Amino acid sequence: MNNKIKYCVANWKMNFDSTQSREYLSLINKKKFQNQNVKVIIASSFIDIAVNSKYLSNDIDFAAQNIFYEDHGAFTGEVSCSMIKSFDCKWILIGHSERRIIFHESNEIINKKLQKVTNENLNPILCIGETESERESSKTEEVLKSQLLTAIQGISNDQIDNIKLAYEPVWAIGTGNTADVNTIDKVHEMIRNILLKNGYNGKNIPILYGGSVNQNNAKEIASIKNVDGFLIGGASLDIEKFYSIYNNL
Ligand code: PEP
Repeated sequence: MNNKIKYCVANWKMNFDSTQSREYLSLINKKKFQNQNVKVIIASSFIDIAVNSKYLSNDIDFAAQNIFYEDHGAFTGEVSCSMIKSFDCKWILIGHSERRIIFHESNEIINKKLQKVTNENLNPILCIGETESERESSKTEEVLKSQLLTAIQGISNDQIDNIKLAYEPVWAIGTGNTADVNTIDKVHEMIRNILLKNGYNGKNIPILYGGSVNQNNAKEIASIKNVDGFLIGGASLDIEKFYSIYNNL
């Protein structure tokens, strides 16, 4: 029996107003999340973190979907680590492909964010993944290596132990085209090897898979040895689907 902790992370993205979010939380609180080996996290809006965390059941945490790397000051529209800490939020997604592509976050910006979050003893979930054209031109390893090694520059091996990774091929996000089992297995192994070959502790770092995970494919993907959980977008908006995915971990 494998007692390694797995992660079931919902990414609500920019969905749900405050009432809808409370409705979701009241329904999800009625479900039994009894598997001590699976940590359930909901990446919500900052508004929910501030207003609705009191509706979360004890064993579920909110995560921020983004963060800024400065403490305070003239950074209109941004939110700092100390702000989310003051609402007891400890988890943060960093480098989601929508942040990289739509908001032009470079690997260097992601590195500053990751350094800040690790120095603040918060728990980052660093997202990496290649686009379809990068995959087609056989650049997956090169892209993942550059995303990963730039993101963790200046971060010590002790701090690496506190990072969770999410492999999210961009071509699989929101498309219904899940990566096949073989690809996920190989790429997660590739990610571990990138860390190991570059002097980091890659052996036990949790690697989540994200990209069109749903209630029908969760069981098969969860059975891959190298998969330590899921980051789930679309299917996480439906409690029944999210709960079914959880039950397959
Ligand atoms: C995501 O946004 O992180 C994601 C994996 O989305 P989806 O599950 O909808 O592909």
